[in-house]
Amino acid sequence: MQSNHLGRRQFLQHSALGVAGAAAAGTTRAADSAPQPGREEPASPDVSNKVDVLVVGGGTAGTVAAIQAARVGAKTLIVERNSQLGGTMTTGGVAFPGLFDAWGKQIIAGIGWELVRESVELDGGSFPDFSKVPQRHWHNQVRINKFLYAILAEEKCEQAGVHIAYYEFPHTVTETAEGWQVDCVGFGTRRRVLCRQIVDCTGGAEVVGLLNLPRLREENTQPGSMLFQLDTANNPGRGHGAPLQRHGRRHYVHGADSSNSRTVTEANLIGRRTVLEMVRKEKRRLMHLQPETSFRESYRIVGETMITVDDYRSGRLFEDAVCNAFYPVDLHTRTGVRPEPLPRGTLPTVPLRALIPKDSRNIMVAGRCVSSDRLANSALRVQAPCMGMGQAAGVTAALAVAKNTTPLEVPLNDIRETLRKHGAILPRDEG
Ligand SMILES: Cc1cc2nc3c(=O)[nH]c(=O)nc-3n(C[C@H](O)[C@H](O)[C@H](O)COP(=O)(O)OP(=O)(O)OC[C@H]3O[C@@H](n4cnc5c(N)ncnc54)[C@H](O)[C@@H]3O)c2cc1C
Repeated sequence: MQSNHLGRRQFLQHSALGVAGAAAAGTTRAADSAPQPGREEPASPDVSNKVDVLVVGGGTAGTVAAIQAARVGAKTLIVERNSQLGGTMTTGGVAFPGLFDAWGKQIIAGIGWELVRESVELDGGSFPDFSKVPQRHWHNQVRINKFLYAILAEEKCEQAGVHIAYYEFPHTVTETAEGWQVDCVGFGTRRRVLCRQIVDCTGGAEVVGLLNLPRLREENTQPGSMLFQLDTANNPGRGHGAPLQRHGRRHYVHGADSSNSRTVTEANLIGRRTVLEMVRKEKRRLMHLQPETSFRESYRIVGETMITVDDYRSGRLFEDAVCNAFYPVDLHTRTGVRPEPLPRGTLPTVPLRALIPKDSRNIMVAGRCVSSDRLANSALRVQAPCMGMGQAAGVTAALAVAKNTTPLEVPLNDIRETLRKHGAILPRDEG
């Protein structure tokens, strides 16, 4: 855990002054904190928030977690280091979420599905027929318009009362009597957040890392990908990436590492340089290029339980299961990928305890950093389960605040009933 650079008394004084003018999400602004010429920069943050739930990372899982926590009544703030919501789906361009169905039935719904459905409908797109078992798993991925998805996600956050902070990330997290103090930075902004619960949806469990809680990582991670399109007319917003889409292409960025700004910079430089080489070699026009490399793998948490590939392959029904997951085991290597389909009828589940870092209080994760071994993770990381986990974490965090307890202590029945009320499909409820 890192130390706090501000004295507690100093912050409380600032906070007490600010609370009188509290706006949305408990936001207060320090009127005198803008740096002025010839004046030393003040030590107090520019903005302070007092919220119930802080979601860090506004990607696939985080967007859903934040909307869900707010819909249950928690005062919620989402901090996203990039410029829009959606993460790998939008900024990374992997705009073909799956899998919402298994063996002829829909198995994941709720807020993620609401966003996917509305973005397809608004775009005049079409849906796969979930009542049919496809020959290849990717036939039933949904092609969304990533631009619309990002905007709809913002609209739903705002409607639910989620406060959004872009271009920021936490640099210090300190435990307090009520929960957490999280100091974030962005350009021109230093934000202090006091919150009761954190949901870490950064993909690589960055907040869990700041807290020095254990994380797992392979020495050689799966490649990332840069998504682009040469020559053929662009189909704005629609997904790219063979073998799923007609014109989109992607190339592997080996060694791509999402864990810090230096490694992400390096991945982007390599990705773009390779695209330039292709344009020159193939003498074709560049019609589309994502702004960022998308990353398949970095850190996973060590949770209160860990999903093994045997649990996954056998469709183990965990006693604390909070959502379904369905996808082949799908490990990419230097030489490509050979998806390993699940045995017919198998439907894996995700337990709540895989979203809770071991021996932690008041912090959960959702998304690809779920506590799982590598092979189980290669399947669990896809978007529909990430959304399902996000919704479960959002409900649990909000209920933990309402009941003044920790995520592990929230009664499972309450979590499940609230999830059902908000449209989620619970394991073995799929009909
Ligand atoms: C090339 C590729 C192809 C794929 N193909 C498919 C597919 O066909 N179908 C499918 O369903 N899935 C696919 N996946 C997997 C899936 O897209 C991802 O695993 C999933 O979207 C991850 O969701 P997440 O919420 O965990 O992370 P993300 O969606 O990546 O969201 C993490 C968010 O956190 C933000 N963030 C990170 N660190 C910080 C920080 N410190 N502070 C603030 N914000 C932070 C990021 O900017 C990002 O917005 C693919 C992935 C890749 C890379």
